[in-house]
Amino acid sequence: MARFRNRRILDVLHFDIVGGCQLKCVGCPNSTILPKVTRIKPSVFASCIRNIDVDHVKLFRLFNYGEPLLHDDLPAIFDVLATAPEFSIRHLEISTNAQFSRWDQIEDVFQRGLLTGLVVSCDGDGTPVSYERFRPPAKWETLIEFLVKARELRDRCSPKLELRTTTVIFDEADKARWRSVLEPLGWDPHFRSWINLVGASETHSGREWRPGQGVCSFVEQTGQLYVNANGTVVPCCAHPRAGEFGNLCLEKWSAIVDGNPRRHFVELLRNKRETMEICGACEFGPRVPKPPRIMQLFSQLSGRMSGLGESTGA
Ligand code: SF4
Repeated sequence: MARFRNRRILDVLHFDIVGGCQLKCVGCPNSTILPKVTRIKPSVFASCIRNIDVDHVKLFRLFNYGEPLLHDDLPAIFDVLATAPEFSIRHLEISTNAQFSRWDQIEDVFQRGLLTGLVVSCDGDGTPVSYERFRPPAKWETLIEFLVKARELRDRCSPKLELRTTTVIFDEADKARWRSVLEPLGWDPHFRSWINLVGASETHSGREWRPGQGVCSFVEQTGQLYVNANGTVVPCCAHPRAGEFGNLCLEKWSAIVDGNPRRHFVELLRNKRETMEICGACEFGPRVPKPPRIMQLFSQLSGRMSGLGESTGA
């Protein structure tokens, strides 16, 4: 894990408090696997949290591949977070499909003031037909009801809580359509384009599938931790079953991150990735290093100069 002035820091921690999801969004591996919904017991969650031996987590997400609002005791999960961790948390987020809610529990969670972001995922072109086509069996009406109710609750109980949406779109027209729906409801829309994910029932990226090479960005550094709903540490959030590194009910994170299963997995990615059932097909590759600052400035300058040439017809 990353260290800064001898502090052990996780950049990202995804922890599935629920395994599985009630939706079969066509671009998600959950569309072909994980039919069963499981919920982590708060006592098991507490054991796992105690074994995450770091000082600070920059971004803690209470989900990885499951739908967190299907948990039947969210307040107990937040009791654990309020009392158990040895580490501090800068941002704590829940991401939901907004199709199921126990409002009494959500209100309880909002009132605690621990949650810093609530994120709703909603794909398609911004129309009800498209939304329901890409996220079966989700209903547009339920989405809108959730957005309205969550905003009211946020305003009343937790005014600093950020309300954001993440939406997979095809083009700029989709973006404009979504903005016209979401912004009047008080939500901050974020967008991304389609990604080819192993196991998804449909791919809509519009480009050829190109498997990545070498060690992917999710495991090439040790500042990212992904955990499923029984405490198993998994490699990433791109596929729920890409591998297993150990279980946080039984071991500290510091032992798992240096352990043999993870080391073996990284070696396979580096040397024989094409033989791995899931990773061999996955498109994620190594992190692309940022060019040095001087190169960025040079490229901006040459971009401006060539733009100038075009505009003057030179
Ligand atoms: S190669 Fe893909 S599936 Fe495998 S660990 Fe990396 S992101 Fe996950």
